[in-house]
Amino acid sequence: MSLRIYTIQEPEVRQESTPISVEELRQPAMQQFANDLIEAMIRFQGIGIASCQVGRTIRMVVITKEYTEEKEHLVLVNPRLVSVAEKTSVLEEGCLSVPGVFGPVERPSKVRVKALSRNGEPLDIKAKGMLARILQHEIDHINGILFVDKASTIRETQEEILTNV
Ligand code: ZN
Repeated sequence: MSLRIYTIQEPEVRQESTPISVEELRQPAMQQFANDLIEAMIRFQGIGIASCQVGRTIRMVVITKEYTEEKEHLVLVNPRLVSVAEKTSVLEEGCLSVPGVFGPVERPSKVRVKALSRNGEPLDIKAKGMLARILQHEIDHINGILFVDKASTIRETQEEILTNV
């Protein structure tokens, strides 16, 4: 199925997404949705994507393999921040759901995230740099939070920026 991007004007993007049970995760339809979500991230040239961004308010996100050491794009189910570093960094972010808008966001520079894999296995991820940033941006999404809520300033531009997540 070909998914479309839901934007900030649509209520799905502002809803708190629902946890996914292991039983639900094992359903073929849910596995197909994970594939569709990966496909959508690639097609819309995101480096990460959350389910609510395609109109499905469940706690599943995808992160490009470009910023991990994995061979496949990373599917995270029910991801949650378990700890964050005190040290922060500021980087300009963008979002597929807020097209043409960018702004600097201060976030902890290191995080630890627990989640389930798409097969229901527990994952414990320690991340820094871009991966830490994408994880936080996507976990915000499943809580209905957008980067524009946190950006110190925002600007509109037509230029291509590689931090659409
Ligand atoms: Zn986003």
